Amino acid sequence: MRIALTLTELRTAINEQKRLGKKIGFVPTMGYLHEGHGSLITRAKAENDYVVLSIFVNPLQFGPNEDYERYPRDFAKDRDYAESLGVDLLFHPEVREIYPNYPSLTKVTVSGITELLCGASRPGHFDGVATIVAKLFNLVMPDRAYFGLKDAQQVAVIQQMVKDLNFPVEIVPCPIIREEDGLAKSSRNVYLNNEERKQAVILSQSLKKAKAEIERGERNAGRIKEMIREMILSQPLAVIDYIEILTFPSLEKIDSMENKTVLIALAVKFGQTRLIDNVIVEIGG
Ligand code: AMP
Repeated sequence: MRIALTLTELRTAINEQKRLGKKIGFVPTMGYLHEGHGSLITRAKAENDYVVLSIFVNPLQFGPNEDYERYPRDFAKDRDYAESLGVDLLFHPEVREIYPNYPSLTKVTVSGITELLCGASRPGHFDGVATIVAKLFNLVMPDRAYFGLKDAQQVAVIQQMVKDLNFPVEIVPCPIIREEDGLAKSSRNVYLNNEERKQAVILSQSLKKAKAEIERGERNAGRIKEMIREMILSQPLAVIDYIEILTFPSLEKIDSMENKTVLIALAVKFGQTRLIDNVIVEIGG
């Protein structure tokens, strides 16, 4: 596995592969890798000739009172895990390499679908995401890029950006990988204490119940949201940020879920830790 710390090292490696006509698969991450990231890497390995993994905690997508400084980092462990999965090139730049003049004067803004869900609680977050992903696409020039549906709104935003700005890349959305008890794997799960960790299972449980209710015929979005709210509030440490049911990937509000592909998404805080989870359900008439 080759490691590139600078833009020059990255460009040299990418140009070599492009000259050889290799298909490049790209997995952008913030590191502290777990099996969720691993699943994207494995898929990228299966579908491309050369896999690039980036590990970069992007300051531009964190708000002033968020966890940028304390976001978990373990490069040595990530490097070994990436190597064990067959990553060809690991790109791990410093902030000054990516943003020589921080913050960047140029930003990418995707409007319309970034003001709601996580965008409402985290103003500027998706500008930060779209900007770093656009920069990384220009640097890595991938044929395919892999994103987890754990961050379903991010998938919608990146797909929109790629379409609107004509990036020559195929976006591959990948399923959510979960712990045995259902909690969606996340680098931020290490923040949870024992009691918070136990109670956090309610997120996936409530989404599972919501999906089951829809499969039994429920089509009223308000009633589903209310059921989820009650389940989550049964856990004393849970503080709800949002529970939303929207069309996917257009992220439009709906009352009736008839004939739609819907995203049921939630964000809940346990202590200082904000967790997100979702399920996508395809509903017939
Ligand atoms: P992050 O390092 O949290 O920015 O995530 C990097 C990529 O991994 C994003 O595309 C995430 O959606 C994806 N990812 C994170 N957690 C999971 C998970 N539990 N299952 C699938 N993909 C995930």
